[in-house]
Amino acid sequence: MTDALARAESLIDLTPDYPEPGVLFRDVSPLLADGDAVRAVSEALIEPFRGGFDIVGGIEARGFLLAGYVAAIAGVGILPIRKAGKLPKPAAAVSYALEYGSATIEAPGVLRPGERVLLLDDVLATGGTLAAAQRLVRDLGAEVAGSAVVLELVDLGGRAHAGDDVHALFAARE
Ligand code: AMP
Repeated sequence: MTDALARAESLIDLTPDYPEPGVLFRDVSPLLADGDAVRAVSEALIEPFRGGFDIVGGIEARGFLLAGYVAAIAGVGILPIRKAGKLPKPAAAVSYALEYGSATIEAPGVLRPGERVLLLDDVLATGGTLAAAQRLVRDLGAEVAGSAVVLELVDLGGRAHAGDDVHALFAARE
C-alpha cells in the first residue's frame, strides 16, 4: 500500500454503537475532506478497471461523493443509485433484505444498452446493498464492469452476496 493510501485509511473515523448498539460505524467523512486522501483513494478505486467502464454508479449517499470524484478523474458520467422515493421517474427498482426489514434502491433511466457501469460505495458490510445495485444495473439492460469499495468488513461475509471480485482498498474485521 502506498503512503498516501495508508494515510487515507488512518483518516476513517470509528464510532461505536452507531446508528444502533453493537455497530461500529466507519465514517469516511475525514478521508473525503482531505484532498490528498480522496484523490489517492479515487485513483486506487478505478485502477483495476481502467478502460473497462463507461460510467460510474454511486450508491447513496457516500457512494455519490466517491462517484463524483472518480467520474471527474476518469472522464465519464455518473449514475445515481438512490434510496426509494427520491427519483421522479425511476426506471428500475430492486428490494433486498436487511437484518430487520428490507430496503429498496432505484435508478433513473439514463443508461444505454450494454453500457459498462463501475459501482462504487464506501463500505462493504453484508453485501446486500452492492448485490442489489448489481441487479439494478442488469435490470436496466446495462453491464456491471466491476464493484469497488473503500473498506470491506470481512467478518460480515459481503463477498458471498456481492461477488468475490469486489475491489476493496482496505479491510477491517467487523
Ligand atoms: P451492506 O448492504 O450490509 O453491505 O451495507 C453496506 C451499506 O451500509 C453501505 O452503503 C454503507 O455505507 C453502510 N454501512 C454498513 N455498515 C456500515 C458500517 N459499519 N460503517 C459505515 N457504513 C456502513
